[in-house]
Parts: sequence; structure tokens; C-alpha cells
Amino acid sequence: MLDIKFIRENADAIQQVALAKGLNVSVTELLEVDATRLTLLRQIETLRHRRKTHSAQIEQLLQAKQQAEANRHKAQVRQINEELARLEAQFAKTVQRYTELMLLIPNIISPDTPFGASDADNVEIMRVGEPTVFAFPAKDHVTLAENLGMLDFPRGVKVAGTRGYFLKNAGLYLHRAVQQLALDVLYARGFTAMDVPLLVRETAMENTGGFPTGRDQTYHLPMDQKWLVGTSEVPLVSYHANEIVDIEEPIRLAAISNCFRREAGSAGRDVHGLYRVHQFAKVEQVVLCKNDLDTSLQLFEEITKNAQDILAMLELPYRMVAVCTGDLSQKNYKQYDIETWMPSRNSYGETHSSSILLDFQTRRTNIRYRDKDGALQFCHSLNNTAVATPRILIPLLENHQRPDGSIYMPKALRKYMNGLEELKMP
Ligand code: AMP
Repeated sequence: MLDIKFIRENADAIQQVALAKGLNVSVTELLEVDATRLTLLRQIETLRHRRKTHSAQIEQLLQAKQQAEANRHKAQVRQINEELARLEAQFAKTVQRYTELMLLIPNIISPDTPFGASDADNVEIMRVGEPTVFAFPAKDHVTLAENLGMLDFPRGVKVAGTRGYFLKNAGLYLHRAVQQLALDVLYARGFTAMDVPLLVRETAMENTGGFPTGRDQTYHLPMDQKWLVGTSEVPLVSYHANEIVDIEEPIRLAAISNCFRREAGSAGRDVHGLYRVHQFAKVEQVVLCKNDLDTSLQLFEEITKNAQDILAMLELPYRMVAVCTGDLSQKNYKQYDIETWMPSRNSYGETHSSSILLDFQTRRTNIRYRDKDGALQFCHSLNNTAVATPRILIPLLENHQRPDGSIYMPKALRKYMNGLEELKMP
């Protein structure tokens, strides 16, 4: 959410941002509704003030036993009450529309974000390692994992429907190993490690910016009025909702969690393998800091580097792209995606997203701190994937495969894999 004062002063620029992000919201309508809201508020306040004056007069007149005059004032109060009821109903409707529109207004975009319509226009800014070259016919992760008894898709679909899967034995261990490695890295770097609620209230989804835009991507449990989170960013940011926090040091939070996504609109896309599933696990980094762009940019580098360091430990080649305007979500100010080389796709595939949100989330969530003058300020928030699995198993299995179908185990993972140096047929 942006500050309404900021929106009033930058209406044209914000409308341009909405266009660039492909969002259907009219800033002109918001400003009209805002003006009506303020007019109604003033009228309501004036009438309430008049009613108060009449009430005081009635009391005095009754004490002075001037019943007729008191009755004249009472008639006026009745008239004011009728008018107030009408205006208050109109005001409630106006506030509802105002809130709907405010929730749709996008965050501003950093000046260095490349302009573009879709992810095809994202701009590569860094490449680490080179795409793996094989001297033998390489297999895809599904064949490799099934041959090694790590994965069962047919039974996954039997039990859970499309995109369902079972991970087994070394598959499960590897899935957990990458998560534990990522969490250990973050914990050692000062993050608070957390297990978080995955069933959350609607306010948590709305406040962190997942709603209203991402409603159709989210699983709803209507009997309990709860939503299943698509990312632990939601509970991590909401952890400090409605609090005044001590931000002298940035607040660094990390969670391991399952994530649930409907993937609405993705029918027929990435149907093969573990790339796009409805349920996956993610280690997420969330940072809250002072309302200062330089601090945010510095922390953005830090959380992005955490992800890069984890990829280095997994010994995987990747590239980083600056996400363009058309691919930038409503809530983001700036975003880098890391894409890891996936041989079976013969391309880099997105495995991490690093984002700066300025005070967009914290205004909605009401997370503030006191600056050095004692004034309350909204924090900045940032987030990034540390690792997401089973998607990361695609590059892990495919890049590290050997001609005999065995898989080289990166050294950093071995201690989480009972010391195994390779995965091979049982
Ligand atoms: P996001 O929270 O959308 O930025 O996603 C973070 C990471 O989660 C992505 O880069 C992927 O590695 C992973 N991810 C997102 N959606 C899916 C999905 N449907 N299936 C598997 N992994 C996913």
C-alpha cells in the first residue's frame, strides 16, 4: 500500500507504473473516491458537531424548564440523525471502494528496473559457471530419479491428482538435505530460524500483498476462513504485524515451510517433472529494516548473495536476471531472479526470487519503528528464496549425473546425506 498523500502528488506516475506492471486500476477513480470520502467525512463531522451543540442546549433548556424550546432542538436532532444515517451509509460504501482501490495500487518501480512486457524481457546481469556439457546421452531428472527409486509420479497423481508426486528414500533425504543446508547457512549468518503457521487468516494474505491480486492462486479452507500459504513470506512478515519493532539491527527471519499454489492459468505448462507442482518446500529469507533506500539496497545484495552462496555449495551453474517491469509483481520495487541451468529444458530455469518492497508491505501490515527523533516510521521489507525444492532437484540431479546413471553428491550436502558421496542404484 502506498501513502495516499504520495498517490495524490504522483497520480500520473503511479498510473504509468500500473500500466507497466499490467495492472487494471484507475488512479483517477481512486482520487475521485478519495475526494468523496473526505467530503463525506467533513459533512459527517459537521453534523456530529451540530448535534452535540443541540444536545448541550437541550440539557440547559430542560434545566431551565423551557420545554417548548427544548422540543424545537430535539426535532432538529432527529433531522440531523436521519441525515447522519444517510451520510454514514454512503461513507461506509465509499470507504469500502477506497480500500479496494488502495489495495490494487502498485508499489513504485526502481529506476534501474528494465522496461519490458514479460519474463522474456528480463535482462541477464550475471552468469556463474557454464551450462553443463555431457559426453554421453544425458537423462532428465524424472528418469534419473525413478531409476534410483527416489520418485514416484504415477502414484502421486493417483493420490493427489495432476502435479502430485511422492519422494522416496534418497529423494526425500535430498529434498530435506538442501533445506537443512540452506537453513544452516542462514542461521549461521544471524537469521532467526522459524517454523511458521501455514494456515493463515485472510488479513495476513492481504497485508503481505498476496491478496487481492493472487486470490485465484491460493487454496481456501472456507469452513475455517483460513488460507494455505504459497510462501512463508506471509507468516514471516506477519510475525511483527501491528508492532513497533526495534530495528537498530535489521530483523532477519528464515523459515522452512511447505508452500501450496493452485497454479491457476498454468494448465499445460511445465507438466513434465518436478518444475511446477502444487506443493513444494522452500527456505525463505525475510528482512525488515529502516525506512532507508541505501539500507534496503545493501540488504538486497546480502540476501541475494546468501542464495548465490548456497548455489555455489550445490556446485550448480546459474545466471541472474533483473526482472522487467511487466514481470514485476504489484508489491515489488525491484527484483532479481536466479535461474539455474536445467539440462533437460536446455535452458536456465527460475529457482530463486530476490525482492525489495520498500514500505509497501509494512504499511498494510502496520510494522513501524521509532526513528532517532522518536517519530514512528514504517519499516522496509525484503525477501528472497534460499532454496526451493523439489525444483532445485532438477538441476542437482541433471547437472551432477554420470554416464552410469549415478549422481555426484556435492561435498556440502554429504553430511546431510549420511555421508554419501554419490547416489547410485540400490
Ligand atoms: P516465488 O515465491 O514465486 O518467488 O518463488 C520462489 C521459488 O519457489 C521459485 O523460484 C521456485 O524455485 C519455487 N517455486 C515457485 N512456484 C513453484 C511451483 N509451482 N512448483 C515448484 N516450485 C515452485
